[in-house]
Amino acid sequence: MAKASAEVEQLHFLLIPLMSQSHIIPLTDFAKLLARQGPVVSIITTPLNAIRYKSIVDHASRSNLKIQLIPIEFPGKECGLPEGCENMDALPSPNLARHFFDACSLLQDPIEILAKKLVPKPSCIVSTSALPWTQSLAQNLSIPRYVFHTVSCFTLLCSDILSKTKVHEEVSSDSDTFFLPDTPHRIEFTKSQLPESMRKNSDDLKSVLEHMKQVESQARGYLINSFEELDPWYVEHHKKIYKNFWCIGPVCLSHREMEEKIGRGNKTAVDENYCLKWLDSKEPRSVIYTCFGSLCRLTPTQLKEIGRGLEASNRPFIWIIRDSDYSREVDKWLKEDKYEERIKGIVIKGWAPQVLILSHSAIGGFLTHCGWNSTMEGICAGVPMITWPMFAEQFYNEKFVVNVLRIGVRVGVKEGMKFGEEENKDYLVKGEKIAAAVNELMDDGEEGEAIRKTARELSEKAKRAIEEGGSSYVNTTLLIQDVLQQKGQLKVNCFSVGLEY
Ligand code: UDP
Repeated sequence: MAKASAEVEQLHFLLIPLMSQSHIIPLTDFAKLLARQGPVVSIITTPLNAIRYKSIVDHASRSNLKIQLIPIEFPGKECGLPEGCENMDALPSPNLARHFFDACSLLQDPIEILAKKLVPKPSCIVSTSALPWTQSLAQNLSIPRYVFHTVSCFTLLCSDILSKTKVHEEVSSDSDTFFLPDTPHRIEFTKSQLPESMRKNSDDLKSVLEHMKQVESQARGYLINSFEELDPWYVEHHKKIYKNFWCIGPVCLSHREMEEKIGRGNKTAVDENYCLKWLDSKEPRSVIYTCFGSLCRLTPTQLKEIGRGLEASNRPFIWIIRDSDYSREVDKWLKEDKYEERIKGIVIKGWAPQVLILSHSAIGGFLTHCGWNSTMEGICAGVPMITWPMFAEQFYNEKFVVNVLRIGVRVGVKEGMKFGEEENKDYLVKGEKIAAAVNELMDDGEEGEAIRKTARELSEKAKRAIEEGGSSYVNTTLLIQDVLQQKGQLKVNCFSVGLEY
């Protein structure tokens, strides 16, 4: 790798993620990609999140990257959050999401005080779109802010088109279908599949989301955890509209060593060597990996159906059950049913080393909730997907995977739920449906083979994008140059009005 100039080594990027796994994980990954090109990178976090991410950052520091975590006390209590609730995945109820955002915004003043003492002085802020107050923080510090989008170009476009055309408001019921206008693909939605903020009578997060959008337009640039070769039409569209729109991903490919793939986001609930050995014993591309991210909640009834479906597919599988979903009822069922003794799979109760597992050659399919990070990780691993979106922008990702990229099949969910509405029986997906979708994806026929081939090709393109000289590598360099140029301009501006910089 080319040696960075002294000027670049003096740049200091201040990264501020929303305290949620799907924001901290990609920003920490991106911190490594940035630091490999020379700058100093600091990631703002909270004490409990710092413990989770310490091993990754320590590993990066041992590799001579100038990365540090800066923990700041989280003002959760002031906003009515329970003790220790410093991450969205620790929210006891989705109704507290608004309180969580309020607590995040109280971080602005302490970060400003801290930033003024940092050496070298921060040159810019990179923050996720959910933190609009970081724009005024950047203004107070007289540095540019870059928005780090944790969603795809396709999602951004869907959201833009719907906000402008309001085609979804013309349908009479939540289950009536409509087509998304102005895209080269024929994409059909129902209103119930749209994020809550797009639906009528949406909850009180709507005002937060509107504020975010408004503030976003003041940013200096936009970073997307994607790569240009994935969806060129959608990337080009955004480039025409936004200044400084750069795809800098897939950031999950920042990991080079096994240790980095394990310490990602949490302590894993499984011995990775056991897991790898088990995978080694399986045929290539034969295992189904099943995981629903860090926020989806599944009821015991739904978990039993997933268990039945995976077993009925008669294929080897790894199934992740989130800590918070692993209730006494689920434990009792697994034991009384002697489920784990009977199945051809492994059940992991808690956090899994997802990127490590997905990148094993035995994995042949990924049953996913379509969170953007998980989707990207599936793409990078060249693993086709069985899509099971639930809420937020997950249906956009399903359409992208199935209709645009053509690397997946649907489990067949028609309606989106609201975050926190999982108990509603209408959302139950039966085991038979799950088994059928798994078998459809794993089918040896022409269609299954075409999906696998496309998935392999995209994975190769993703890897090339992140290598030195690849599109995302070059875009990261462009970002660094932009920050350098901004720094120079600020100097000129400050001198011209007689201020010291
Ligand atoms: N993840 C993981 N192990 C788990 C569950 C999730 O490593 O057991 C990671 C996953 O690799 C991804 C992130 O958590 O990077 C989840 O982000 P995503 O955008 O997919 O979904 P969300 O959690 O926002 O629903």
